[in-house]
Amino acid sequence: MNCPICKEPMIVLELNEVEIDNCFSCGGIWLDAGELEILLEGSNKRGAIIYSMKRDTSSKEKALRCPVCNKKMDKISAGIDKVIKLDKCRNKHGFWFDGGELEEILFMAKFDEDNKILDLLKEIFKHKINKGVK
Ligand SMILES: [Zn+2]
Ligand SMILES: [Zn+2]
Repeated sequence: MNCPICKEPMIVLELNEVEIDNCFSCGGIWLDAGELEILLEGSNKRGAIIYSMKRDTSSKEKALRCPVCNKKMDKISAGIDKVIKLDKCRNKHGFWFDGGELEEILFMAKFDEDNKILDLLKEIFKHKINKGVK
């Protein structure tokens, strides 16, 4: 699968049943449909975060194309304390998170320190640090 921004192949990182497609060039992350819900399992903010997602029709950002079906994606706003803009495939293939956005969502989920998702994200960060990308 190619990054919708850089058009470069993304690297697949696996966590249990979730495959996270990560672009090491721009730091963006693609999650297939349903994977965000799985990642948020165990968070008592899960329902609130998922419920907060709304289509944002006022966004002036350029529409990105879904890496699965290549159709233009919708802009979605999400978040409890802070609003984050995501891109969502209209054919429900999944969500695109620009660099740092998935981390922000997971930060809102307020997981415990020893959560394995946080460990995975640290792993992702480490790669970014190695590549000099924040
Ligand atoms: Zn990229
Ligand atoms: Zn799609």
